[in-house]
Amino acid sequence: MRAVQYREVGGSPEVVTVPDPEPGPGEILLRVSAAGVCHSDIAVMGWTAEELTFGLPLTLGHEGAGTVEAIGDGVRGVSIGESVAVYGPWGCGACIMCSQGKENYCVRADELGIMPPGLGAPGAIAEYLLVDDARHLVPLGDLDPVANVSLTDAGLTPYHAIKGALPKLVPGSAAVVIGTGGLGHVAIQLLRALTPARVIALDVSAEKLELAREVGAHEVVLSDERAADRVRAMTGGVQAVFDFVGVPPTVATATSVAAAEAEVVIVGIGGGVAQVGFGVIAFDASVRAPYWGTRSELIEVLELARAGVVDVRVETYSLDEAPKAYERLHAGKVNGRAVILPGG
Ligand code: NAD
Ligand code: ZN
Ligand code: ZN
Repeated sequence: MRAVQYREVGGSPEVVTVPDPEPGPGEILLRVSAAGVCHSDIAVMGWTAEELTFGLPLTLGHEGAGTVEAIGDGVRGVSIGESVAVYGPWGCGACIMCSQGKENYCVRADELGIMPPGLGAPGAIAEYLLVDDARHLVPLGDLDPVANVSLTDAGLTPYHAIKGALPKLVPGSAAVVIGTGGLGHVAIQLLRALTPARVIALDVSAEKLELAREVGAHEVVLSDERAADRVRAMTGGVQAVFDFVGVPPTVATATSVAAAEAEVVIVGIGGGVAQVGFGVIAFDASVRAPYWGTRSELIEVLELARAGVVDVRVETYSLDEAPKAYERLHAGKVNGRAVILPGG
């Protein structure tokens, strides 16, 4: 089959031919209908050999949807031809976290060498994807896989980040979204669907701020060194901040616009470090840095799509065009999410 791989440290994604995978006992083979392109892949491709936590080559793509093509011995609960989304943060399935559906925080994944597809295990930007267990599939039903595949990360990750902050987002509150790209433009919609908060979006690109407005931001602010002052002048401090960039200047903005008891959530993996201490951040503010989301949260996000309140802005590419999609994402030119269609 054809697949898009990151083959050597410092290289660029390449379209290659690899052997067709076959499902072993308990495994499911999907014919991939759509696979999303995430900025985390760009971060991974920037790591040194020492920083890389898995071997190469790696088939990319940790947002996947497909139809069940074949099932291994002992698989129950899925049928051939069924349309499914892949829950990506695979864990052991049995530890205290996995038992609660929080496989994103599996306590044994490292020890057992379990890695997500596209982030260690072969990923979804390929004609076929092998899934290790039926519990990592969620039925899509009549949801369009192309429009909704990115909800498995660009929807699930902000949903998890926002869910923990919901008690703070009461009527009269304000929330800030920093970085209105793939994750951020979904975050704005989730905040509008789930809370009465005034939503303020920050980005460095006018085009992305326009998308932020289209998807429901009440206000948009250019993300520069004066952004924090502007947000404070508009609000007097906000009850929740979601930073989908996570570089030092955005983390500084995020902590400095926080009101007392605010939730500051750093989702972007740009290496920024928050300063927390008495008198350094507003009283009683909390800072967290979550990873992905739980299986039940993925089911909830898909329900929101079914209800018509989240709509991922998608640009589509063929498998051959996947390297171009990564180039455009790297250059900041993707407005919304790039989705690869391996079927052509
Ligand atoms: P993206 O490229 O689609 O979006 C990033 C957005 O940030 C773009 O709109 C860009 O214009 C904007 N931006 C860049 N610099 C900025 C600045 N200084 N101020 C404001 N906006 C700025 O990326 P994405 O796929 O949405 O991913 C966002 C981040 O989240 C990445 O760092 C990614 O690695 C990370 N991520 C983390 C998790 C997690 O579980 N913690 C999961 C998925 C992605
Ligand atoms: Zn991702
Ligand atoms: Zn586990």
